[in-house]
Amino acid sequence: MFRLPLHWQIIIGLILGLAYGITSAAMGWGQFTSDWIVPFGDIFLNLLKLIAVPLVLGSLITGVASLSDMHKLSRIGGKTITIYIATTAVSVTIGLILVNILQPGANVPQELQQELQAAYQAETENRQSTADAVKERGPLQVFVDMVPGNIFAAAGNNSNMLQVVFFSILFGIAMIMIPKEKAQPLLGFFEGLTEAIIKIVEIIMLAAPIGVFALIAKTINQVAKDDLSAVVELLSALGFYCLVVVLGLLLHAVITYPLLLKSFTKLPLVKFFKDIAPAQLLAFSSSSSGATLPVTMDVCENRIGVSDEVSSFVLPLGATINMDGTALYQAVAAVFIAQALGIGLDVTAQLQIILTAVLASIGTAAVPGAGIIMLVIILETVGVPTAGIALILGVDRILDMCRTAVNVTGDTTVATAVAASEGQLHSPFEEA
Ligand code: ASP
Repeated sequence: MFRLPLHWQIIIGLILGLAYGITSAAMGWGQFTSDWIVPFGDIFLNLLKLIAVPLVLGSLITGVASLSDMHKLSRIGGKTITIYIATTAVSVTIGLILVNILQPGANVPQELQQELQAAYQAETENRQSTADAVKERGPLQVFVDMVPGNIFAAAGNNSNMLQVVFFSILFGIAMIMIPKEKAQPLLGFFEGLTEAIIKIVEIIMLAAPIGVFALIAKTINQVAKDDLSAVVELLSALGFYCLVVVLGLLLHAVITYPLLLKSFTKLPLVKFFKDIAPAQLLAFSSSSSGATLPVTMDVCENRIGVSDEVSSFVLPLGATINMDGTALYQAVAAVFIAQALGIGLDVTAQLQIILTAVLASIGTAAVPGAGIIMLVIILETVGVPTAGIALILGVDRILDMCRTAVNVTGDTTVATAVAASEGQLHSPFEEA
């Protein structure tokens, strides 16, 4: 029986969700949509979040425990982190160059600024206080946060993924060090757990078109709140800014990633992007690279041919620390706000933005809307009033969708490159 490829099914779900969402906002069906459509999106997203922690635990422990030597682990780890940081720095630079050349903030009318600041005052204060809590931490706090005091508490919260990654690596290393006959039953257990979870991912993905439809309808419902004209107005006022962010993201996706893939692999680019499309589309619809992780791992292992060993290490780490899209957006947003408020940023300030955006993106949680909280910290570093985020809050959700899709693309690209460099990319193109 003919079945439409998964990415087409999801694209259709996405387009229909978009059409439905716009109709619903135009016709004032907001209540009906939240009662009868939104729950399907929530169920779908919860199912994905449900398996994220056991998947990371199972696959990472199995991945590390089946490595026979520690050298390999540190080699793969070093390579992964270096490429992650390098690609993020490139993406911030692309964003900075564009925003400085195109100057989207240069002509934002005074009245519009006042209007936006009044409209988003409460939300701005909210983000600011969350950012204040983040800021009061010392320079080594990132490392403290990585080490959980209680593994069950860590596994009880999806935003503690890095702690789960830490525990799994430690546990895997310990399994290499204990006698084989003791480690074997544990290894069998975790292998079985991982297999079962991957089967669950396949089952959940059967519902992806419906899930994506509902998620998109939900987003439009939240943003438009039965008043479509307000969104259109906001988009036309901030359209140029959005365009610069989207252009930067696109350039990064069609130049940096293909260059990286070409230098490490023989994979045809079209095939690569087709294979990862379900993960990109899901990231776009959910605005969460954490929730997309099970699908990211699935496409990398089963479509692209990245070995379990590499994907189970590189991808959970990437979902938590590698956010090229977020970093690019943060750089553009920071300079846009400075331009709109008439504040000049010299070369030192721009270099500071590169550094803080790379660090802030590492510290950004893989959940919707996290990027704008860390943006507050960047603004403070370069001396731009943080109340300025009111200017961009209205369109943030839309940009969140785009940057999350790029974040996930970055993770899959690096996983593929690292796998190829280790001779662990099992693809007919690579072996040809
Ligand atoms: N939503 C993004 C992610 O999950 C983070 C952000 O807000 O930029 O990757």
